[in-house]
Amino acid sequence: MANQDDPYARGPDEQLSLDGASVPFWLLHLFAVAAFFFPFRWSNVAAFAVAYCLGTFGIMAGYHRYFSHRSFKTGRVFQFVLAALGSLTSQKGVLWWSGHHRNHHKYSDTPLDIHSPKRGFFWSHALWFLSKKYVATSESQQREFAKYPELAFLNDNWAIGPVVLCATMLALGGLPWLFWGGFLAIVAMWHATFTVNSLAHVWGTRRYETTDTSRNNPLLALITFGEGWHNNHHHYQSSARNGFFWWEVDVTFYVLKALSWVGVVWDLRVPPAWVLEGAAGPTRQGEAAAVAEEEEEAAGVAKTG
Ligand SMILES: [Zn+2]
Ligand SMILES: [Zn+2]
Repeated sequence: MANQDDPYARGPDEQLSLDGASVPFWLLHLFAVAAFFFPFRWSNVAAFAVAYCLGTFGIMAGYHRYFSHRSFKTGRVFQFVLAALGSLTSQKGVLWWSGHHRNHHKYSDTPLDIHSPKRGFFWSHALWFLSKKYVATSESQQREFAKYPELAFLNDNWAIGPVVLCATMLALGGLPWLFWGGFLAIVAMWHATFTVNSLAHVWGTRRYETTDTSRNNPLLALITFGEGWHNNHHHYQSSARNGFFWWEVDVTFYVLKALSWVGVVWDLRVPPAWVLEGAAGPTRQGEAAAVAEEEEEAAGVAKTG
């Protein structure tokens, strides 16, 4: 119940909701465990790996670095491909996801941050979207991409993504692939992504004295394809590269870089020298400048292509 003295206390509409909407979430966990009752086969692991790589790249490169932060540019077709890949992970629609993520950066770890771990660890991990309060897409936070009808359609009908993934796995590899490449992969991708909101704000080191609790964590960076460098990211969020140095493994950036060589994406933003050189760089000014620049570009962000 809301506590008047604690600004981080959750209201009555911010409690775990066990109505119909959250049933698929729990059911999929049961199905994921059931995957281990099939006889072990490497082909099952391969199906899992393919789904995990495609979906996680869609979330990290697409939902996060492109739609939330516009850290690189691409054409309308590949923009849709990124949104479609992200939707395979069953993390709701791309506009819903990126709108709420922008809110997280705007209010990081203040009482207005929807999923700060200061409101509870499991709340930041998964409970926040299992409450009734944050079901709607945050339109004020996500204007420029809502104008594309194909993105708006996918946002409203995001369940097509996981259904297509599961149906494809069933068709190609029968029940073992449905459970490994479908259910288990989706649940694994969920929790990998959710650790960025939970563990990456409590476990790891802090290179930059940001005003939030973000951390850098190499283990999380491996499983999230680079998002574990979350303190770097909060310090300079408009970068397409979250591993700022060569030893900070950032698979999402490597793939984006390779795609830039063949012209699929371009104008990848990287951290400027003042960010790399000093922990005490002008974070807020740098962010303000980057945001102003982004807003100028908002109208023409995606060319038809
Ligand atoms: Zn964060
Ligand atoms: Zn972010």
